[in-house]
Amino acid sequence: NAFAEPAPIMAVLHRTFIARLSRLKGKTALVTGSTSGIGLGIAKALARQGANIVLNGFGDVDGPRAEVLAAGQAAGAQVAYHGADMSRVADIEDMVQYSVRNFGQIDILVNNAGIQHVARVEDFPPERWDSIIAINLSSAFHTSRLVLPMMQAADGGKGWGRIINVASVHGLVGSAQKSAYVAAKHGIVGLTKVTALENATSGITCNAICPGWVLTPLVQKQVDAKAEQHGISNEEAKKLLLGEKEPSMQFTTPEELGELAVFFCSPPAANVRGVAWNMDGGWAAQ
Ligand code: NAD
Repeated sequence: NAFAEPAPIMAVLHRTFIARLSRLKGKTALVTGSTSGIGLGIAKALARQGANIVLNGFGDVDGPRAEVLAAGQAAGAQVAYHGADMSRVADIEDMVQYSVRNFGQIDILVNNAGIQHVARVEDFPPERWDSIIAINLSSAFHTSRLVLPMMQAADGGKGWGRIINVASVHGLVGSAQKSAYVAAKHGIVGLTKVTALENATSGITCNAICPGWVLTPLVQKQVDAKAEQHGISNEEAKKLLLGEKEPSMQFTTPEELGELAVFFCSPPAANVRGVAWNMDGGWAAQ
């Protein structure tokens, strides 16, 4: 029966295909703020490579969990979820312990959770400032300080780990009305450099990704505000937003950012340390 067994050549091709799919098999990635947008895109890309994923974030969990499971199915990735509020240190500690209980180790840490608020400095509500600094900056310090000791013990004490901080082009340049966000993102680029330097002789790298505009719920709010402010359509508001800052006139996608995260986790990226890597359609080149 010709259909009972795959032909040998097919079996080899199948094994090669699965091996190429499973470059992160056996690794565990904790991705903060991964129930939506960029975090979800990165979680799916890492799962596609076989990494087990700990999801985190607010809102619907079943939908994102199903998407990540589907992305990682062929490579056998497992998915867990913890609802830590990244502004609360005790929650972050609990999430790290939960991840280790579930998967034994955290090998890849993606600090992605973030929020935005737009107002001039003199009008900026102090409690919004505090939340943005806590969620967009301090949470990355807490996850990193908790995860680094286990990364340093990995690979027989030589250390292995990947820390990817989702900063922003606003980690490199400013924009009016975004004081807390720009301060937090410049801060996380600094934290990235120091973390990279402190682990530079080990297998642990730390790098930042600096996206320009990505059409996620975080940015859709700013598109809606522009549409209302100028009495224009959603499409016109998107063009206006891109035209102000992004020479390519294109949004970067969560899928593209996911593939950059996969590259940072790959062997050829072993000596990429402490960079702030833009994917911004030329925004910061101006
Ligand atoms: P998003 O609103 O789609 O997703 C944010 C995620 O963070 C969600 O899962 C949300 O539930 C989670 N989150 C928010 N507050 C949280 C908290 N206190 N605790 C735990 N989770 C929390 O936004 P996004 O655009 O995907 O943003 C993700 C990251 O990318 C942010 O750090 C953002 O600053 C950065 N970024 C976004 C853009 C863009 O254009 N969208 C550009 C540059 C950088």
